[in-house]
Amino acid sequence: MRVPLITGNWKMNTMVSEAIELSNEMRSGLDEIDGVDKVICPPFISLATVYKLIKGSSIKLGAQNMYFESKGAFTGEISPIMLAELCQFVIIGHSERRQYFGESGEIINKKVKAALKVGLKPILCIGEKLEDNEAARTEKVVIRQLELALAGVGNLTGLVIAYEPIWAIGTGRAATGEEANEIIGLIRCNLAKLYSKEATRSLQILYGGSVTAANSGEFIKQPEIDGALVGGASLDANQFLSIVRQTAEIKG
Ligand code: PEP
Repeated sequence: MRVPLITGNWKMNTMVSEAIELSNEMRSGLDEIDGVDKVICPPFISLATVYKLIKGSSIKLGAQNMYFESKGAFTGEISPIMLAELCQFVIIGHSERRQYFGESGEIINKKVKAALKVGLKPILCIGEKLEDNEAARTEKVVIRQLELALAGVGNLTGLVIAYEPIWAIGTGRAATGEEANEIIGLIRCNLAKLYSKEATRSLQILYGGSVTAANSGEFIKQPEIDGALVGGASLDANQFLSIVRQTAEIKG
């Protein structure tokens, strides 16, 4: 009942010319694949250009971050209503934002609420550090992150969650499909207690962390995993297409 979702997080990569090239390389191939939600998240500076290039296709656009205020004296920031002109999705609380830019649970909560208010779908990232994983604290950590991020959020409509163990991001050391499936199952169970079982049945929860064309099938075939948030491999059109194709075959 849940449509699988594959999101490409291009991070701080691609000059505008490269973003154009990558979008063009992906457009027709991605557009031919049905039954999977496909989202690409280029850097802010390329959003308007990529928006025009993918307009009319089934590819959706996402941003990698945003501020929670709608306008004003916040030099350097981009607001939810600005993004909503171009994007349907926004990544919120990525571990790189938490780690390098000091984003707290409180800030992430404000961003989630602000995104939902303007109809942007937050892809809310949660995940544990290696030491938490090794000390069997994963469930505790991710549930706490969720409680903080979702404080005052009345329902789960419009929300996507990405479980991204920090030790797996950009390291080439992915979780196993079974490990990720177990944690995502626990996330769904805990959210069912906070919201309702019905609400969590339709909630898309993704795995992220060193997903490639070679290992994506292992995650996608898991019943609790609804897709992937792909970093490095989303910069390679062939790999990204292959991940989306495999998802359509496995979940279709
Ligand atoms: C990410 O950016 O969210 C990510 C999971 O990166 P990578 O796929 O490169 O590990």
